[in-house]
Amino acid sequence: VNVARTIAEVRAHPREGSVGLVPTMGALHAGHVALFEAARAECDTVIASLFVNPAQFSEDADLAAYPRDEQADAAVAAEAGVDLLFAPSVEEMYPPGFSTWVDPGEEGLEAEFRPGHFRGVATVCLKLFTIVRPDFAYFGQKDAQQVAVVRRLVRDLALPVEIRAVQTVRDEDGLALSSRNSRLAPHERAQALAIPRALATRDPDHARAVLAEAGLAPDYVEVADLDGIPTLAIAARVGSTRLIDNVPLEGDLP
Ligand code: AMP
Repeated sequence: VNVARTIAEVRAHPREGSVGLVPTMGALHAGHVALFEAARAECDTVIASLFVNPAQFSEDADLAAYPRDEQADAAVAAEAGVDLLFAPSVEEMYPPGFSTWVDPGEEGLEAEFRPGHFRGVATVCLKLFTIVRPDFAYFGQKDAQQVAVVRRLVRDLALPVEIRAVQTVRDEDGLALSSRNSRLAPHERAQALAIPRALATRDPDHARAVLAEAGLAPDYVEVADLDGIPTLAIAARVGSTRLIDNVPLEGDLP
């Protein structure tokens, strides 16, 4: 797969027909591949970004422990038909003197537990959109609040990009695929399975009981309106790894 390190290299990449962008933080798994495939099916040129965005981490330990394996990621991207992988340095995205931020004014759920998270997400997404100038950008339903924030960013700032959301990809045991799953010890992974079990109840009170039964003390178990869809959302720490997952309560069942 072609790898671009700089904004200039992305801008110099030949653009053929429609362009799809898939933003990722790497440690690619089948959830990311589902986004690549959705982009591949709809766009002539597929560009993926691989950037562990420090601005969206609210804990230094989480950022430091974030899994990174660019060689493996490049192979996954190539196999999925990605045309260009944009893997910039932190300095390329946040050069000295950087001080302009997009504040989406998001409240609730992740915004309460990760101060500054959505400011980091909105800022890097806007920057990626202006660098890549995609016609379509693909995001996972697994981060449903992120999808809602990005859709509002696009609406509020009249950005010329269409946002597509892709259903959550799960392991056979029901656990939503996440780059952070690799940090779970076997007994933690067994405990984490209470999260999809809790979501399957489709009821916040029942969900809380299922998590409590498994010994998990969640950050939140809430039904929130995300993009007009009532969504049961859970965040819980399993050991030192914080996991999030959700299920839309209306619309197509996952
Ligand atoms: P990340 O690399 O974790 O920032 O994720 C990059 C994109 O992949 C985001 O839009 C995520 O919502 C999406 N994604 C992550 N995990 C999954 C999954 N299990 N199923 C579908 N999309 C996912």
